[in-house]
Amino acid sequence: MRLAAFTLALTLTLASCAILREQLGLALVSQETELELGRKLSAQIEKKEKPLADSRIQAYVRQLVAPIAQRSLQDRPGIVYQVTVIDNPKQINAFALPGGYVYVYSGLLKAADNEAELAGVMAHEIGHVVGRHSANQLAAQYGMELLTQLALGEDAGQLGEMAASLAGAGAMARFSRDDEREADEYGFRYMTACGYDPRALLTFFTRLEQLEKSRPSDLERLFASHPPTPERVSLIEQMITKAGVSGGKLERDKYQKSVASLKR
Ligand SMILES: [Zn+2]
Repeated sequence: MRLAAFTLALTLTLASCAILREQLGLALVSQETELELGRKLSAQIEKKEKPLADSRIQAYVRQLVAPIAQRSLQDRPGIVYQVTVIDNPKQINAFALPGGYVYVYSGLLKAADNEAELAGVMAHEIGHVVGRHSANQLAAQYGMELLTQLALGEDAGQLGEMAASLAGAGAMARFSRDDEREADEYGFRYMTACGYDPRALLTFFTRLEQLEKSRPSDLERLFASHPPTPERVSLIEQMITKAGVSGGKLERDKYQKSVASLKR
């Protein structure tokens, strides 16, 4: 009885935290501030990181993301997604900036086995944009006043520091467990709506674990900003069971051909 009361209290506390967080984010960061900040941060990122020169791979990834992004507009309209592959074979990671700028490292394309795995990762990143997670997190970390100043004016130093932490160079994980779970829920919906097999999320996690064990010393942190924790794996398994999804496309041959130049 006491345990039940405790569980209920805990559930209520967690639920109200999530609602509070959401309302704070919406109230604090306007859509215009978020878009402007994203635009400025993306300029900083593109100064630091080199876009992959292979325009066919850039186009392939953009085409793959387009229908997933299209789906997400139902939940958050008005976002124009910009997808860029960054040339860094040692980084197995992807990240999203406020306002719809999504980046994936060539190292992640190398590590993925099929289109469904990449689609799952990109759908998860789009989930962070739909949930406005980076805008919320930046507001919590730097304060709303600074964000508005940055969106209105120029402060390249501060923007550079923020861009670095968003690119996963910072030591800490970026998002809360709640945000990761929400991004997984959106991502799962979008990838399955586009016909992909959601089990690819699980095979990708397994591959990351194997790479982690056998990783060469020059490999940078694997998916550091979105760790495939046992909790995430079990939640994804639950989503698959609940949705009754029994399969879907993987597009392995198409994928291997499209990214062959990276795998050599
Ligand atoms: Zn994430």
